[in-house]
Amino acid sequence: MTSLKTLGERSVEELGGLGAKTVESLNNLGAYTILDLLLHLPVRYQDRVNRVPIAHLEPGCEAVIAGVIVKAQYIGRRQRMFLCKLEDDTGQLDLLFFYFRRYQQERFLKGKPLTCFGRIRQGAYGVEISQPEYRLEENYSWTDNKQELTPVYRLTKGLSQNQLRRIIEKALNLLDKRDIDPTDVLFEQSKLPNLTAALHLLHKPPLDAYVPLLEGGHLRARKRLAWEEIIAQFLVAFKLKDARSSNKAKPIKANLQKIKTFLGGLPFEPTSAQKREIDVLLKEIAKPHPMMRLLQGDVGSGKTLVAIAALMATVESGAQAALMVPTAILAQQHFRTLEQWSLPVKLLTSQLKAKQRNNLMDQLIAGEPRIVVGTHALFQQNVRFGNLGLVVIDEQHKFGVHQRLALQEKGEQPHQLIMTATPIPRTLAMTLYSELKIGVLDEMPKGRQPVITAAVPKQRNQEVMARISLACQNGQQAYWICPFIEASEEAEEVAAAHEVEKELNLRLPDLRVGLLHGRLSASKKDALMAAFRDGEVDILVATTVVEVGVDVPNATIMVIDSAERLGLAQLHQLRGRVGRSERPSYCLLLYKSPLNEYSAKRLAVMRETTDGFRIAEQDLALRGAGELLGSQQTGRIGMRIANPIAESEHLDQLREIALATKGQEVAELITKRWLPESARLGQQA
Ligand code: ADP
Ligand code: MG
Repeated sequence: MTSLKTLGERSVEELGGLGAKTVESLNNLGAYTILDLLLHLPVRYQDRVNRVPIAHLEPGCEAVIAGVIVKAQYIGRRQRMFLCKLEDDTGQLDLLFFYFRRYQQERFLKGKPLTCFGRIRQGAYGVEISQPEYRLEENYSWTDNKQELTPVYRLTKGLSQNQLRRIIEKALNLLDKRDIDPTDVLFEQSKLPNLTAALHLLHKPPLDAYVPLLEGGHLRARKRLAWEEIIAQFLVAFKLKDARSSNKAKPIKANLQKIKTFLGGLPFEPTSAQKREIDVLLKEIAKPHPMMRLLQGDVGSGKTLVAIAALMATVESGAQAALMVPTAILAQQHFRTLEQWSLPVKLLTSQLKAKQRNNLMDQLIAGEPRIVVGTHALFQQNVRFGNLGLVVIDEQHKFGVHQRLALQEKGEQPHQLIMTATPIPRTLAMTLYSELKIGVLDEMPKGRQPVITAAVPKQRNQEVMARISLACQNGQQAYWICPFIEASEEAEEVAAAHEVEKELNLRLPDLRVGLLHGRLSASKKDALMAAFRDGEVDILVATTVVEVGVDVPNATIMVIDSAERLGLAQLHQLRGRVGRSERPSYCLLLYKSPLNEYSAKRLAVMRETTDGFRIAEQDLALRGAGELLGSQQTGRIGMRIANPIAESEHLDQLREIALATKGQEVAELITKRWLPESARLGQQA
């Protein structure tokens, strides 16, 4: 048995039996050490022990069902599907197989017992399961007769659920349930469980654990972890603040006349919120201390303009400025916008040829005044700036301390502006990110109309196409998003997007349809986005690559396929791609009926409001109410486990604990455990 503390120092390889590919996949999940693996908590749980009588099955639930085969045959045109009817004492259930071999079929004999596991859905003729796991046995046990719930983890490419389960179980077995961690004492007063006990419970809950509580993150075990993570955030924020107050920055004196001319030349009048924020920014960067500012503003509130003013001021004053964005598509978009304003801007992406790249590097090291736009590659590798005055980080809706740390580590002291659409309440943000000053764009550009939102069952997608056709005939454009929920589903969704493209081409032959997904090369993606922006493509069918930041004001229809499976935050982000002009826009949420209770509630929220803060509130209220969505949608704000909004009433208390441990060994342990990058910051300070 090993203590938790030492597991944080052992890399996942040390578990043994892992190939290089597997290790790479684990790293992609953020798991570098064995401890990281243990902090990768299940997103939900399955009961693979208790059999459920067919009459008790409800659509949406996952269950083990045992019965006898009463029918087995190919069905459908060209016999593409295999159907097996299963019967128990209470009713019948259809098992549908799309991927099926003939020899398998030969074993499906009438009268034979069968045990299966899968997600129940409502079919045309009663409940059904498609592609269940099955065994031709009366009494098969998927858990080796262990009376435990089965965890389901967030996955990434190259890793299967069973594989990850085995790996994490191996890690868990290294850990004595009774081990005491140095951090446990901090939570004694709050009567939270010890860390190791909490980890054991969360990865291997007993069968009688109440699943809604577990999945909703309402258990004290989960709180124990979340609280420690929040304390880590506080500790790092303290460090960053200390590091900053002792630092000097180059003051940037803006040429106010130039900025004024620029603003005056826009085709629209900046909102008073934008003007106010630009004013504050220009004052802040003129000071000899590094500005650390967070700019919040709902999708579409016009954050880019504020950033441009500051970027402009910086290069005009002779310094360099960097704009970092989460996707290459967005980098390209901002690059074009800045180019339009004749600013000296360069794009730094991984596609750059070696020669161009080296050229650019030379310019940057030489300190030539430039705005550089790029993805996180900007702050990696050997990029060095000779004269960096300002850094803007855009669309950090998974906003965490990581970027702030990365910058600090470079030893640069530029002014920093971080922009996010995450509607964290201001007071909460102030507590959590105490080293930042906060500004809010609390006003939408004039003339915007709220996006009209409707939920439409998939069977009626003809109506949706008719609406698109009409809009496109009037010179407008549309998005049709086919999202994937888990990385493991990507292939399926790309296929779904291909289907949609085909159908649109078939039914709307006059319109130009483009298909954008993550498997296209970067240059193809760029070309397609450019074509869409330039109006050469009418309908852009896409996976969620367009989720953040994309700005094509002429697009007025957003169709979201399988909307019932998405979380509110993501739906809101996607809807924010339309409603960017004065024309009315529509968001059509396509769903597969019947809807379960929570999906129905989410879609209702989307119809009722377009206000990001209200949606975030509702998200919190609905989340944990019995259903878990895909991993990307847990609303975590750059954290692994904690949702600080859910813990807002405890933040003061946690801040106190963090303050009390500041400088102690246990504080080091906590920050290293949750934010390994921060250890390096410590060495520097
Ligand atoms: P976000 O805050 O989501 O990043 P953007 O900066 O992309 O929003 O702005 C959304 C759209 O609104 C852009 O097309 C932008 O040109 C436009 N815009 C920005 N400010 C104004 C304004 N004051 N009036 C009208 N349109 C504006
Ligand atoms: Mg934006």
